[in-house]
Amino acid sequence: MATTSLDLAKVRNIGIMAHIDAGKTTTTERILYYTGVSYKIGEVHDGAATMDWMAQEQERGITITSAATTCHWPLDNVDHTINIIDTPGHVDFTVEVERSLRVLDGAVTVFDGVAGVEPQSETVWRQADRYGVPRICFVNKLDRTGAEFHRCVDMIVNRLNAQPLVMQLPIGAEADFQGVVDLVQMKALVWSAETKLGEAYDVVDIPDTHTEAAAEWRGKLLEAVAENDDEMMELYLEGQEPSQEQLMAAIRRVTLASTGAEGTTTVTPVFCGTAFKNKGVQPLLDAVVRYLPSPLDVEAVEGHAVNNSEEVITRKPADEEPLSALAFKIMSDPHLGKLTFVRVYSGRLESGTQVLNSVKGRKERIGKIYRMHANKREEIESVGAGDIIAVMGLKQTTTGETLCDPAKPVILESMEFPAPVIEVA
Ligand code: GDP
Repeated sequence: MATTSLDLAKVRNIGIMAHIDAGKTTTTERILYYTGVSYKIGEVHDGAATMDWMAQEQERGITITSAATTCHWPLDNVDHTINIIDTPGHVDFTVEVERSLRVLDGAVTVFDGVAGVEPQSETVWRQADRYGVPRICFVNKLDRTGAEFHRCVDMIVNRLNAQPLVMQLPIGAEADFQGVVDLVQMKALVWSAETKLGEAYDVVDIPDTHTEAAAEWRGKLLEAVAENDDEMMELYLEGQEPSQEQLMAAIRRVTLASTGAEGTTTVTPVFCGTAFKNKGVQPLLDAVVRYLPSPLDVEAVEGHAVNNSEEVITRKPADEEPLSALAFKIMSDPHLGKLTFVRVYSGRLESGTQVLNSVKGRKERIGKIYRMHANKREEIESVGAGDIIAVMGLKQTTTGETLCDPAKPVILESMEFPAPVIEVA
C-alpha cells in the first residue's frame, strides 16, 4: 500500500467555478479524461483501455461524484497531482460553499463565451475574493454562434473589476474555431476540425492572419505583467524581451500575489477554447500547474488553542509539523459507506492511529484512507501535509471540525458567515 509523501511543490488543490451552464461539468469531465489518458494508476498506459473507460464513463454520465478527485498531469515531463475539490453548484454563501473554498488553494473560473460574465460568475468571483483564492479564467464555448472572446475579456474588466492577462487569442470563430495563439510561446496551438477526446494538438507558427494581433496582445501582456512585477518592470524599462521561462515565472508570481482580497484588483491569466469540442483543455491543465499555487505557496494555516480562542497557533504545510486537518465534507459512498473528506494542513494523517477532534474534545480512530480518482479509489496508509483524501470510520466528526495531534491540539479557524450578497442582475 502506498505511503504517499508528495512533493508539495507538485500538488495543486483547485476548484472549478462557474455560472450554471457555462460548462463547469464538461470542463471537469474533460480534465478527468485527459488526465486519465496521460496517467493510470498501477496500469501500463494503454490508450485503448483508457478510451473504453472514457466511453463507459460517458455512457453512465459519471463525472465528479466525489467531494475531491485526484488526477495527475505531466508538465514538461514532470508528474503533478491535481486534487479537484467539488465546489457546490449553488452560489449562495452557504457553509458548504465556504468549506470547499476554504480547502482549495486556487481556482479555474469558467465563462460562457457567448454570455460572458453572468450574475453567478460575479457571485463565485466575490466568494473567491473573500477567501483570497488566486485564479485563472477559461472562456469556454468559443465554438458557439455568437461567442466572442474579447467581449468576455472586457466584461472581466468591467463587471469583475479584475485585470485580465490575455494569454491566448482564438484562431477562427464559432463553428470554425480551430485553436489559439499562445502569447507566451508565440506559437499557434491548433486542433483538427473534429477533435476526438484525448487528441493532441499541433504547435505551429502563428498564421499570417494573426501575426499583427499576436504582436499587439503580446505587448499588452508584457506591459500588464511588468506593471505588477518589479523584475519584469526592470526588463521592460530596459527594452529587453523576457525569456519564456522568465515570463512564465513572472505570470506565476503575479497570479499568486493577486487574490482580490480586501478590495484589491485580481490579476488573472485568461485562456480560451471549447471543452465540449475538446479544444483548449490541455493548455488549461498546463496553466493550472504553471500558474496556480501549490500548498507551499499558501500562508501557514492559522488556528487557535483549545481553551483560549485568543491564542493564535500557526501550522506550516510540512509533514514534520504536528497534525492539523479539517473535515470539510461527509459523503456516503455506495461501496464504502460513510466517508469524511479531509484536508491535511500540517503533519501526517495515518490509518489506524488515534487523533483528537479538538472541537468536540473526543478521540477518533482513523480507519482506512482513500485517494479518490475518477475511475477508482486507491487505499493509502498515510497522507502528508497539503493533501486531500477521504477517511473511513470517523464516528464523531462532522464537517468544519479539526482533527489534530492529541499532544498538540489546535482548532483551525472557524468559519464566519458573511452578510448575504444581493445579486445584481
Ligand atoms: P455547468 O452547468 O456549468 O456544469 O455546464 P455543463 O458543462 O453541464 O454545460 C451546459 C451545456 O453546455 C451542456 O449542454 C453542454 O454540453 C454544453 N457545453 C459545455 N461546453 C460547451 C462548449 O464548449 N461548446 C458548446 N457548444 N457547448 C458546450
